Amino acid sequence: MAYFQSKPTSGRHFLQIPGPSNTPDRVLRAMDYPTMDHRGPDFGRFGKQLLEKLRGVFKTSQPVVVFPASGTGAWEAALANTLSPGDRVLMCETGWFAHLWQELAGKLGLKPELIETDWRRGADVAAIEAALREDKAHGIKAVCVVHNETSTGATSRIAAVRKAIDAAGHPALLLVDTISGLASIDYRHDEWGVDVTIAGSQKGLMLPPGLSFNAISQKALKAAEGAGIPRSYWDWRPMLAANAQGFFPSTPATNLLYGLDAAIDMLMEEGLDNVFARHDRFAEATRRAVRAWGLEVQVEVPGEYSSVLTAVRLPEGHSANALRATILEKFNMSLGNGLGRLNDRVFRIGHLGDFGPLQLVGTLGGVEMGLGAAGVPHKPGGVQAAMAYLNGNA
Ligand SMILES: *Cc1c(COP(=O)(O)O)cnc(C)c1O
Repeated sequence: MAYFQSKPTSGRHFLQIPGPSNTPDRVLRAMDYPTMDHRGPDFGRFGKQLLEKLRGVFKTSQPVVVFPASGTGAWEAALANTLSPGDRVLMCETGWFAHLWQELAGKLGLKPELIETDWRRGADVAAIEAALREDKAHGIKAVCVVHNETSTGATSRIAAVRKAIDAAGHPALLLVDTISGLASIDYRHDEWGVDVTIAGSQKGLMLPPGLSFNAISQKALKAAEGAGIPRSYWDWRPMLAANAQGFFPSTPATNLLYGLDAAIDMLMEEGLDNVFARHDRFAEATRRAVRAWGLEVQVEVPGEYSSVLTAVRLPEGHSANALRATILEKFNMSLGNGLGRLNDRVFRIGHLGDFGPLQLVGTLGGVEMGLGAAGVPHKPGGVQAAMAYLNGNA
């Protein structure tokens, strides 16, 4: 037993938070390989093919850069490489992660303008279009949207956001956080006309935390030439120059890159469309369980349900944190907590990454037993409803 575990347990821990997700054994084994000389010829060959196949996951033919960092680093890189202090940025507050991104933008000297939601839906596309139409002088330099809002379980319609920007005839850049969406739900950097896509390793890519990504359009590359936010570590230019030969300007997270190589192979062998369909199926089964329990999901717009995670609302007067603590204590399963204003109001079930039907049934079984043990009013039969659905659609 690891020294930091509070008590001995048998059986696998269920890590059902919406990131970090479970890392497949094949990826763990790929990382269990000696670290190599990151300036040597073998690394150049490895790096070059890896950066090339990484583009497939983003559905882009344009560069994708990798920084050793959590997703937050890629947020900062996206803003610092394309914008200047004082620039206005239009941001959609879909939930806690959008809120954090907006705070970061403020600290970089940008002027975020917020389109708020009630945290029960994705970005308000009509409001984006209206704000851009009003901005006749084109003072807004970027539109920032979180594709999969991990605090609520809402997805935003990125293709529709692109259309809205075009319909308004506005030149703003489109920056999209798909940290928790990539490789779990459909994402198309090129086709959707995204200028910078922001991603991380520890969610749909099934890796441990530690890698962050920017996919970069030609328009964003051009913006980088004139961007005035001071940047050094996050600067795309030395990164792109080194990447051309498969190298990195400073030491890369070599063993995480071995893992990334294996994870992309797994995703491509399964087929991205099959990966997305699997996430859709598990999400629908989860929502059926929630409804059978008589509980409510956080997101109110069915077309914007996330297939990555489901946030479940607790009945008034009941504590989501107490429920999570009971489930951890009794059943050795971690569920996501409510973030920001949703703290203690919701718990979040992650059904992303390396995940199968029996793990889902086990997860939902843990929740159903936990609801009983914690005295949360509910009806039985959630797991049954999920199994019936999976049996018809497995
Ligand atoms: C996880 C997550 C982040 C933050 O990433 P870190 O790796 O914790 O820095 C940002 N945005 C979204 C949507 C996320 O799910």
